[in-house]
Amino acid sequence: MEKRRIVSGMRPTGRIHFGHLHGALLNWKELQDDYRCFYFIADWHALTSEYARPDIIRQSTYDIIIDWISVGLDPERCTFFVQSEIKEHAELHLLLSMITPLPWLERNPTYKEQLKELTQRDVYTYGFLGYPVLQAADILMYKANGVPVGEDQAPHVELTREIARRFNNLYGKVFPEPDTLLTPTAKILGTDRRKMSKSYNNAIFLTDGDEEVDRKVMQMITDPQRKTKKDPGDPAICNVFSFHEIYTDAHTVSGIDRQCRSAEIGCVECKRIMARSLKTALEPVRAKRGELEADMKRVREIVEQGNERARAIARNTMEEVRAAIKI
Ligand code: ATP
Ligand code: MG
Repeated sequence: MEKRRIVSGMRPTGRIHFGHLHGALLNWKELQDDYRCFYFIADWHALTSEYARPDIIRQSTYDIIIDWISVGLDPERCTFFVQSEIKEHAELHLLLSMITPLPWLERNPTYKEQLKELTQRDVYTYGFLGYPVLQAADILMYKANGVPVGEDQAPHVELTREIARRFNNLYGKVFPEPDTLLTPTAKILGTDRRKMSKSYNNAIFLTDGDEEVDRKVMQMITDPQRKTKKDPGDPAICNVFSFHEIYTDAHTVSGIDRQCRSAEIGCVECKRIMARSLKTALEPVRAKRGELEADMKRVREIVEQGNERARAIARNTMEEVRAAIKI
């Protein structure tokens, strides 16, 4: 029996940080054994907010593919492709837009939130309102059975299901309704304790060098109640500690937990240990990235092959879609 399919994408608007790693990529990696995975660079989606500086999009595309492979996504098992290389996505987006009621888009919570949040860019555009329809096209094109997403994106998968249902009712059954595969990790906090994000300038990137990691970790805001080393700290609310839990060995972590609560260890010392764990974890990623950067021909081949595989499926789907709509 053919494996169930999943589809997920990332916007090429810069490099990968620890939020992306724990909020998406490590989950993608888990799934690659059990599913037929399609992971794509959502460059048309990047345009919704970055239409005024498209250079960053082109540049980020290969950077991100390299980061994906460096953290263990396997181009043999997964299909990596670039959205704008598969023009069928644009056609399906257009057709789905005809049957998507405007209120479905206007009530979308992410839309409302981002209109408020993205104050640096004017996103009061037709494309931005409609980007969940483009996402529906991305997902349905591959007849995905599941979509791995963070909680913030779950309403979009729901919308995709509604659009699929409406299409199937109007024209006959073409699309399965995909399940939401919620990413287990809670949000990763940045150095300032807000959600880690490029736009907040609080991110630690997989490409950061040792000095950069040291500098950022030293800046990290810890338990805000702990003013001096003499005050006992609370690891449960400390951002540095949450990274220890992921990257430092269990024995050391339980020691730090105890010594923080009893004010035996200070934040500077604690951060130094955490920075060391983080740098150790980044070493193999950096080595793998170095190999890939030295062989860009291979990277381009991987993307080409992925595009070919994706295109073949997209062509088939669009034939079925056109036949169903009789156009
Ligand atoms: P950024 O937020 O840094 O500007 P982006 O907006 O281009 O990046 P998103 O769409 O926010 O990228 O994130 C891509 C994926 O990574 C999503 O699945 C999202 O849930 C996840 N993600 C991003 N940041 C975090 C975080 N801080 N903690 C957990 N998951 C995250
Ligand atoms: Mg974001």
